[in-house]
Amino acid sequence: MNLILLGPPGAGKGTQAKRLEDRYGLRQISTGDMLRAEVRSGSEIGQQAKAIMERGELVPDAIIIAMLAARVSMPDLAQGFILDGFPRTVPQAEALDVVLKEKAMPLEHVIELQVDDAALVERISGRFTCAKCGEGYHDSFKRPRAEGVCDQCGGTEFSRRADDNAATVASRLEAYHRQTAPLLPYYASKGILRVVDGMAEMDEVARQIEAILGPLPPKA
Ligand code: AMP
Repeated sequence: MNLILLGPPGAGKGTQAKRLEDRYGLRQISTGDMLRAEVRSGSEIGQQAKAIMERGELVPDAIIIAMLAARVSMPDLAQGFILDGFPRTVPQAEALDVVLKEKAMPLEHVIELQVDDAALVERISGRFTCAKCGEGYHDSFKRPRAEGVCDQCGGTEFSRRADDNAATVASRLEAYHRQTAPLLPYYASKGILRVVDGMAEMDEVARQIEAILGPLPPKA
């Protein structure tokens, strides 16, 4: 099963994608995570993307599409994938259609997580992750059970994204409304768009998504 989680930054796409990885055996493909890894490694793509990401703008379609096409050619996607943060423009969605058609990998659902803009700034500016295992936390909504210690792996170092600050969030939201929101009618017209209330509690959002996806696959 292949799906897209669509929604503004801070809507909970990454959190829900990780849950779906565990429960359905799907693989999360986050173009933001891939780009951050490129920036850390100092690669040519990373060098091109760094300043753009810090401004909260979108990296050019050609770079992202090539990166995504290479990723979906890897052999670990047999159970399916969840696209998180891709596509973000209509040309990216059109390129995705071509790549998936070539590979006979149909898209089953595009799930929009709907969240008010006002809630997003608070959500984004409070978030941080374990530097060791990547578990996500939030200053107000989800602190580690023991202060300063990751619940999952016991790690004691945490990091915050460079672009999770109020000024950059404003341009990321602007980019979402101007460049990404046109994907909603694009997928609605294909009959595969589903809408979930992203303002609900995390568990309730997960429940709504699972209701769309249907029964869990049998454990391997
Ligand atoms: P994210 O982690 O999805 O919030 O992405 C962080 C940043 O990476 C975005 O603000 C963009 O600068 C860049 N980025 C991630 N995915 C894409 C994409 N599909 N198209 C263009 N830029 C992207």
